[in-house]
Amino acid sequence: MKLSIHWFRRDLRLEDNKSIESALAGSSPLLPIFIFDQNILENLPRNDARLSFIHQQLERIHQKLKTMGSGLLVLQGDPQAVWKSLLKQYEINAAYWNKDYEPYARDRDSSIRNLLTANDVEVLEQKDQVIFEESEITKDDGKPYTVFTPYKKKWLAKLQPEDLKVQTSKSENSFFQHEPQFPSLESIGFSEPTFSTPEYDLSQVSTYAAERDLPAADSTSRLGPHLRFGTISIRQIINQIHPKHEVFLSELIWREFFIQILFHFPEVISGNFRRKYDGIQWRNNDAEFDAWCRGETGYPMVDAGMRQLYQTGFMHNRVRMVVASFLCKHLLIDWCWGEAYFAEKLLDYELASNNGNWQWAAGTGCDAAPYFRVFNPTAQQKRFDPNFEYIKRWIPEYGTDEYATPIVEHRFARERAIVTYKQGLDRFTPDH
Ligand SMILES: Cc1cc2nc3c(=O)[nH]c(=O)nc-3n(C[C@H](O)[C@H](O)[C@H](O)COP(=O)(O)OP(=O)(O)OC[C@H]3O[C@@H](n4cnc5c(N)ncnc54)[C@H](O)[C@@H]3O)c2cc1C
Repeated sequence: MKLSIHWFRRDLRLEDNKSIESALAGSSPLLPIFIFDQNILENLPRNDARLSFIHQQLERIHQKLKTMGSGLLVLQGDPQAVWKSLLKQYEINAAYWNKDYEPYARDRDSSIRNLLTANDVEVLEQKDQVIFEESEITKDDGKPYTVFTPYKKKWLAKLQPEDLKVQTSKSENSFFQHEPQFPSLESIGFSEPTFSTPEYDLSQVSTYAAERDLPAADSTSRLGPHLRFGTISIRQIINQIHPKHEVFLSELIWREFFIQILFHFPEVISGNFRRKYDGIQWRNNDAEFDAWCRGETGYPMVDAGMRQLYQTGFMHNRVRMVVASFLCKHLLIDWCWGEAYFAEKLLDYELASNNGNWQWAAGTGCDAAPYFRVFNPTAQQKRFDPNFEYIKRWIPEYGTDEYATPIVEHRFARERAIVTYKQGLDRFTPDH
């Protein structure tokens, strides 16, 4: 029997899924699959909380498919090899997936598209992860925006009701009827994590504009991992908050801004967006980096954030900005070190946003603050956690002799950062 395949990747839901919708409109039964990509898996710690989150979401999808006489086929290996064996096993009419804009995914998809088309399988790719993709929002001359405000203005001007249309029609009979085994987390090579991914929560969105910078309030949405893995569609979220909550929408537009930056400038993965900062001589002191990771710098706002990250896989955005600035400016440690540490620990880790925000904090990114603006972590604490509520939550020894003394003096570190950045800029030559 001929069938079509939907390949789940960053769209772990059956509802409002553009690719599934389009596949179900086709004539052949739809076999939904997921591939645990060995190339990604082998670099993850065995109790990675993101892996168990993915596993849970797949199980939810599988259970729902079971009620329709179908099931999710979960595979593991190198995606090329997995698709080759699918081609041997099934007569495949068409393959459907939602687009992923990260460089690794684009390369992977391009080689699988080649494999499939060479085997007479039609490949259909949909835009699902974002409202506007690739080059849909550009300057009048067609070039990508590298500054957020005009990008956002155009994004808002272009938004039409059909961009937010949620897919509803679903023919439940069109899923391929079978009973695949659903693998346990252990059989994939992983174990239960020490913490889990919370549900997202939009109940406090009306106070978001006023409270989003207060880490103790803990009132942000926690949407990060859900958007990262597509357990909810971006359209469904925006439908709930637009047009009332513009500040919140603006954050979602930042997400798309960084996705299109990575799409157009994939070289940001391995270097400064603004090459003129290539001459900075980072100190890259290992002991200071360890103190930063452990949350033992003696700066309570920094330490509270780093401990929240280590213990829960989350850190409040305001605090992310403070710890990132502290690492790059106060300690003069290459932002790539901090970026890699966040990538390992964040439940909501997302390459485009992580890279974009790290480069923003380091001053090397597009639309970044000028390098000589150095956050004062103590002033940030006074402003955003005046009652030490957040700090005491994460640093039980705060205020006792056991708490670390500052590893560097603020005024000295600020001056040193400004001089080092300036020297780096002077050192830069355009051919460098
Ligand atoms: C150094 C640094 C690293 C970061 N790394 C990541 C990352 O790996 N993944 C990630 O999703 N966000 C990252 N952010 C952005 C932001 O901190 C998180 O999106 C946010 O804290 C997640 O919490 P929330 O879901 O409760 O966000 P909310 O404040 O409720 O915002 C809702 C959603 O808007 C988007 N958003 C909010 N702020 C930003 C932003 N500055 N840039 C891009 N999108 C944004 C996210 O999708 C977020 O889930 C980083 C920020 C900094 C300063």
